[in-house]
Amino acid sequence: PNPSLDVTTFISSQAHRGRTAFIDATTGQNLTFAELWRAVESVGDCLSDMGIRKGHVVLLLSPNSILFPVVCLSVMSLGAVITTTNPLNTAAEIAKQIKDSNPVLAFTTSQLLPKIAAAAEKLPVVLMDEERVDSAARKRLAEMMRREPSGTRVAERVDQDDTATLLYSSGTTGMSKGVVSSHRNLIAMVQTIVNRFGSDGGSQGEQRFICTVPMFHIYGLAAFATGLLAYGSTIIVLSKFEMGEMMSAIGKYKATYLPLVPPILVAMVNGAEQINAKYDLSSLHTVLCGGAPLSKEVTEGFMEKYPTVKIMQGYGLTESTGIGASTDTVEESRRYGTAGKLSASMEGRIVDPVTGRVLGPNRTGELWLKGPSIMKGYFSNEEATSSTLDSEGWLRTGDLCYIDEDGFIFVVDRLKELIKYKGYQVPPAELEALLLTHPEIADAAVIPFPDKEVGQFPMAYVVRKAGSLLSEKSVMEFVAKQVAPYKRVRKMAFVSSIPKNPSGKILRKDLIKLATSNSKL
Ligand code: ATP
Repeated sequence: PNPSLDVTTFISSQAHRGRTAFIDATTGQNLTFAELWRAVESVGDCLSDMGIRKGHVVLLLSPNSILFPVVCLSVMSLGAVITTTNPLNTAAEIAKQIKDSNPVLAFTTSQLLPKIAAAAEKLPVVLMDEERVDSAARKRLAEMMRREPSGTRVAERVDQDDTATLLYSSGTTGMSKGVVSSHRNLIAMVQTIVNRFGSDGGSQGEQRFICTVPMFHIYGLAAFATGLLAYGSTIIVLSKFEMGEMMSAIGKYKATYLPLVPPILVAMVNGAEQINAKYDLSSLHTVLCGGAPLSKEVTEGFMEKYPTVKIMQGYGLTESTGIGASTDTVEESRRYGTAGKLSASMEGRIVDPVTGRVLGPNRTGELWLKGPSIMKGYFSNEEATSSTLDSEGWLRTGDLCYIDEDGFIFVVDRLKELIKYKGYQVPPAELEALLLTHPEIADAAVIPFPDKEVGQFPMAYVVRKAGSLLSEKSVMEFVAKQVAPYKRVRKMAFVSSIPKNPSGKILRKDLIKLATSNSKL
C-alpha cells in the first residue's frame, strides 16, 4: 500500500459502491457503500470544522450499530484516533479510561449519555440518535451526516505509522491497557481479512455476515467496522446478542457467515434441537469462532448438530490488531483444539518463558508474534510496552502454546492464569475442557484458590445440565480419575452460569472474589 494512505482511504478505494454495506437487523435501516462513504466524508468535514485534528482522541461509547463504523472511519480519516469502551462499563470505569486517553470529544447514544456525563461532565458529546434526552442543544450525528461534503476540512498528511485506534485490552488478566494501533496495523489487518475470505471460495459482495460480536472490541472493530468493508460484503448488525434474534436474522437476511465467541457456540450446541426446528439456517455456510478457547467437545457437538455449517477458528489479541492465526478448511478445524495456522504476514515462535530459548515443534512455551499488524505499544506505558514488545518487534502474547510439525497452533492456557500448586503449574483451561466432557456438565470454570500450605489449588465452578443431580464429590472424583494428583480439583461449587466477558473469556477475577469472600464454600 501507498505509504501515505490512511486506512479510511485505503478501504474506500476498494469501491463496491452499488452494494449494501450495513443493515440494522432490528429496524431494517441500511447504508449502501455509496451512502457510507458520503457520510464518512460529511462527518469528517464537520469534525474538522469542530477543531478535531490529527492526533486528537475521540471516544466512542455505543452498542453495535450501523453508525458505529461511520464514526470510526470519519475520525480515522482525519488522522485523529478512535478509542472505544464497553457500554456495560460503569461511569467510574469510563472515567478511568477518559483520564488515561484524554479524549477531546465523545460520540454516544441518548441512553448511554448519563454515563459519559457522570464520568466527564465537560467532555463535548455528539449524540448518535435523534431522541430528545435533555434541553441541551447537543450536536447530532444525523445532522452531520446530512450535510453536503464541503471539502473544507483542514487536510493533514496521515502517515501509515500514525495512530489510528486506541483500544483497551479486556483486562481479563490484569489492568486493562490502552493498545495503540497504527494505520499500517489496520491496513495489514484489512489485507489479512480480504485474503482470508478471498481464499474461501466466496465471491466478494455475495457474502452476508452477521455482526453480533462487540464493535468496541478488536474482534468487531477489526472485522466489521473496517476489515470486511474492503471485502465488499454486507454486514447485518445486531445491537446486542440474543439467540432468537440472531437466528431470525440469519433466515431473514440469508446470512452466510456467523462470527461468534465460544459461549454462544456452547448455547447453540445445547439448544440445537429447538434452533434447527424453529429457524431457517439453510443460507449459513460458516461459523467463525474466536476470542477464547473452544473445546473439542463443543467443536464435535457443533459439527454433529449443524452438519452443513463449517466451523472455523480464529486467534488474535487486541495487541495483534486482530487475526494472528486461523483455520481455513474444515479438515483443519478437525484438528480439534487448534487455533489455526499463522496468517500469511505473521511470523511466530515458541519461547521457553524461563530460559528465553526458542523451542521446536510440539514443545510448549510462550507464543511470540511478529508482523505488520502488531501494535505500536501501550499508551503512555513504557514499562508495559518494553516488557511485551522487544526491539526486533516480537510481541509476547502471554499465551502458553505449542505449534505442531504442520504449523498448527494449540493454545494451552494463558501464562498469567496458570494455577501454582506447590511447585507445579496447573492450566485451568485443561481442567475446564475435561469437566466439559462429563455428560451432565453444561459449563465449567476453574480458578486458583489461595492456600497457606500449597500456595494455590484448583477450585471448580460447575453448571449442571437441566435435571442433573450430580454431586460435588462425584465431579471431583471424575477429575481425579483422569489427571495427575497435583491437578486435582480440591474444592468446588455449583452455579447457574459462568460469568464471561463479551469476547467469551471466563471472568476468573469475579469467581476468585466470590470464592474467597464466601465463607460457606
Ligand atoms: P488483558 O491483556 O487486559 O488481560 P485480554 O488479553 O483478555 O486483556 P483480548 O485482547 O481481548 O484481551 O484477548 C486476547 C486473548 O484472547 C489472547 O491472548 C488469548 O488468550 C485469547 N484468545 C483469543 N482467541 C483465542 C482462540 N481462538 N483460542 C484460545 N484463546 C484465544
